[in-house]
Amino acid sequence: MFSPSELLDIHNLLTSERKVVILTHYNPDGDAIGSSLGLQHFLRARGVEAEIVVPNDFPRFLKWMPESRKITIADYKRKKAWELIDQAEVLFALDFNASHRLGALVGPWLDRAKGVKILIDHHQQPDAFDFVYSDTQVPATSQMVYHFIAALDQEELINAQVAQCLYCGIMTDTGGFRFRSTSATTHRIVANLIENGADPAAITSQTWDTNTLTRLKLLALVLGRMEVVKEGQVAILYLTREELKSYGFEKGDTEGFVNYGLSILGSKVAAFFMEDLFEDFIKISFRSKDDVDVNQFARAHFNGGGHINAAGGKYDKDIQSTINDFKELVLASNW
Ligand code: 5GP
Ligand code: MN
Repeated sequence: MFSPSELLDIHNLLTSERKVVILTHYNPDGDAIGSSLGLQHFLRARGVEAEIVVPNDFPRFLKWMPESRKITIADYKRKKAWELIDQAEVLFALDFNASHRLGALVGPWLDRAKGVKILIDHHQQPDAFDFVYSDTQVPATSQMVYHFIAALDQEELINAQVAQCLYCGIMTDTGGFRFRSTSATTHRIVANLIENGADPAAITSQTWDTNTLTRLKLLALVLGRMEVVKEGQVAILYLTREELKSYGFEKGDTEGFVNYGLSILGSKVAAFFMEDLFEDFIKISFRSKDDVDVNQFARAHFNGGGHINAAGGKYDKDIQSTINDFKELVLASNW
């Protein structure tokens, strides 16, 4: 958590006349959007109107969150996004550790921004910001936003909007309260969020029971040819650009596919390779169990990073060469 004197500085910064912008990472997920909207609604309850800017669009299954449709998407509203960041007096950076995670367009805008920069994030190795609250033990940035609100002694400002958004962020980043860093504290916070207006059944169904036929057909394709190597310990899944196009892929359709690889009895690692729809690279998702560190692996070999058990990366070769390179690395690994 921020130190008491930092908290006082931040408290004094957050006044109604200040221009405040909240930024989150490229390809925003449930935690990115949930923590950003949760913080925005909390700041509003304090009398501060903040704007949220994201680099690119996010899945439809997150757009039930209150005011999610007012978020400025830099891909679509470049000028407005740039002006907001350029003119911001206070910038919150949520759910990412370094400006390059904002992508090639927005990353440099944050580097050049003149406002005070406040990081709240649970990824490893955070960059320098004016104020840093970084904790890799916390399962979701949305939980950290809750801790921040509690540290300001303003939990009474957690209304139903704040509660719903933070609940969604914690729920999605813990895989439904399943992943390792889910703690008793997480559950206590979630209980408080429920008491303040987050409805677990409604949020789960709005976020997760929203499969489209396209998504399920893509899943069938991916699972139908899933391969396991290294005595069943490593599962490999993939999709090509042609397949995405012919099935009518929409953003978010492949969210969570990689987890099926890790659900196999005896598996330690799952990797999902997907050709980007527009650009010439492969987007990779890694998941692992226990002590197998896919963050280090993604950093070392696939221009990426993340957490010990959930990381991602990018690769410039074609999909077959990428998978072959991965297999060689896997066979040489001590997993
Ligand atoms: P996902 O597989 O869901 O895209 O990402 C899993 C985790 O890895 C997320 O926490 C995300 O922050 C991180 N991650 C995904 N892609 C990248 C990447 O290209 N670079 C880095 N540094 N982290 C990534
Ligand atoms: Mn997160």
